[in-house]
Amino acid sequence: MPVNTFLMQQGAGLPDTRHFRRAARLVALLTGFVIVILAGGATFAALNERDEAIASSSRTLAALVHSLAEHAARTLAEADRAMRTVVETLDDPRAGPATTHELLNRLSSELPQVRSMLQLDSSGRAVADAVSQPPRPFVGADRPYFRVQREATTDDLFIGLPIRGALSGQWTIALSRRVLASNGRFAGVVAAALDLAYFNSFFSTLLEPGGDIAIFRADGRLLVRQPIVESLLGAELTTGKELNALASQGPRRGTGVDGISRIVAVRAVTGQPLFVSASVSLDTALANWRERTRWLAGGTALACLVIGILGWLLSRRLQALAVQSAAMVQVTGLMDAMLAAIGQGIVITDARDRIMLANRQAADLSGTPPDKMRPGASLTLAAGRGVRSETQVIQLADGRKTAVRRDAMPDGNTVTILTDVTAEKAAEAKLTRLAMLDPLTELPNRRAFLEAAEGEINRVRRHAGRACIAILDIDHFKQVNDSHGHQTGDVLLRTLADLWAEMLRSSDTLARYGGEEFIVLMPETEPGIAIRLLERLRQATSSRHLGAGPDDLRVTVSIGLAALGPDGHVEDAIEAADAALYQAKAEGRNRVRAAPTDPAAHRRQG
Ligand code: GH3
Ligand code: MG
Ligand code: MG
Repeated sequence: MPVNTFLMQQGAGLPDTRHFRRAARLVALLTGFVIVILAGGATFAALNERDEAIASSSRTLAALVHSLAEHAARTLAEADRAMRTVVETLDDPRAGPATTHELLNRLSSELPQVRSMLQLDSSGRAVADAVSQPPRPFVGADRPYFRVQREATTDDLFIGLPIRGALSGQWTIALSRRVLASNGRFAGVVAAALDLAYFNSFFSTLLEPGGDIAIFRADGRLLVRQPIVESLLGAELTTGKELNALASQGPRRGTGVDGISRIVAVRAVTGQPLFVSASVSLDTALANWRERTRWLAGGTALACLVIGILGWLLSRRLQALAVQSAAMVQVTGLMDAMLAAIGQGIVITDARDRIMLANRQAADLSGTPPDKMRPGASLTLAAGRGVRSETQVIQLADGRKTAVRRDAMPDGNTVTILTDVTAEKAAEAKLTRLAMLDPLTELPNRRAFLEAAEGEINRVRRHAGRACIAILDIDHFKQVNDSHGHQTGDVLLRTLADLWAEMLRSSDTLARYGGEEFIVLMPETEPGIAIRLLERLRQATSSRHLGAGPDDLRVTVSIGLAALGPDGHVEDAIEAADAALYQAKAEGRNRVRAAPTDPAAHRRQG
């Protein structure tokens, strides 16, 4: 599995553009849904409350007509009882007009609803009056309360229509009871005038604004109405059938005589051919509801507006995030491609050395399994933890070399850059090697030898050991060049270098010291042993046939040897060996000569 680039920390995935788009749509949808639910709920609640307000007004109205009907029944019954009391006293033979006057006067003053009372004889002439005795001259033969009773066959209470007094200007309703003589013949009536103002003033205390209260006669004619509309009094506004129907239905919506929409309740008055009605205008019934609904509507509208705006803003923000995340995905893709394309490994770690970003080269170049080089994992490299700017080179198990450079970033993170330096390091090593090697003989050169010798003298000093240094110089080499050519001289140099290197021990170091001079470092070697070894080398050289054909070529070598003790110096030993070599040359060449054992002594002599 290749290691991918992650921009997000702790292995969190990249934001998904589709998620944002989907979320934006969902938010828009939810916002709409919530608004619809709110608005629908508020409407539903308002309608419900409206019904409830109407129902509540209807209940109040039903209770009102109930008490109005009882009141009307009581008021009428009281007046009726007064008239019947008078009718009964007329049977008493002792009762005269003066007694009747007193009775009428007392009864009408006791009853606030009764304005006046009157007794008429069979011809309709006034015989007793509540107000004066003798009665004021008056003939009521043509009045309905007299005519109806004269023609009646049963003893019923007569209830007349409202009339306005010619002198008083007051509205009254006439009530009458029939008076029969002892022989059963019609003997006149007792009448009472009901004061409409009594009803109107009582009704006005109960009236709701926009409502009305009325009393109808069973034939549909209007007797009393508050508010007063004089032109309607006595008019046939409805029918008995309709009133009966209304009374049996209970309160219901309707439009009054004034065209105002109302709730109307009608009730029959017990024991009387009357109906009371009360109404309240829909406006009044719904006034509280309207007020509450205004607040509800206002609040709901405000809530819908706020939710709508919030939803719109959120949805827009999510849309913007979708666009941003698309851009981010694209940038990440480009970055992925870029990080994959470059040859170097890149790892970004946080302050706790946890990986935030890594490319696959980073895994390869650090020898880390790809699944360990993932965001959130801690970075462990051979180069160790902690931040260091200088480049470190680590060696991988397969031999490759990686340069690791760690740089702290200002934000506390660290960038680690891994570079494959295998080839570079190999080239460097080769250069170093070449710099220490003599190109002709491929032996260490003078510089390499001196370095090796310095290392050896340190060892000799530490262990109080001993080593030897010998210088080998080919005899009359110039002649070889002169007679066989420089190229043959080169071949000869290579051949002898190979021969000597083969004969020397692996611990010995043979180097080309310059021209046709060679030098040998023999660690842990006593001069005696060294002389024996060098002697063999010298003999092998002189007996070696070099070249082919008629001009058989042989050379000899002169060798100077010096010992290197714990107190000695490399330069002194070389100088001493050189002196010994000089001696060997001087003594005739092709020989080994050793310097005196103490090079310091030799120096003192020189
Ligand atoms: P001696 O016995 O006194 O050492 O005599 P020699 O001729 O060996 O010594 P001399 O120092 O006079 O000559 C050394 C010669 O070695 C001179 C030089 O041309 C030759 N020489 C030095 N380096 C090389 C080389 O790399 N290749 C060849 N072919 N000749 C070289
Ligand atoms: Mg020489
Ligand atoms: Mg020489």
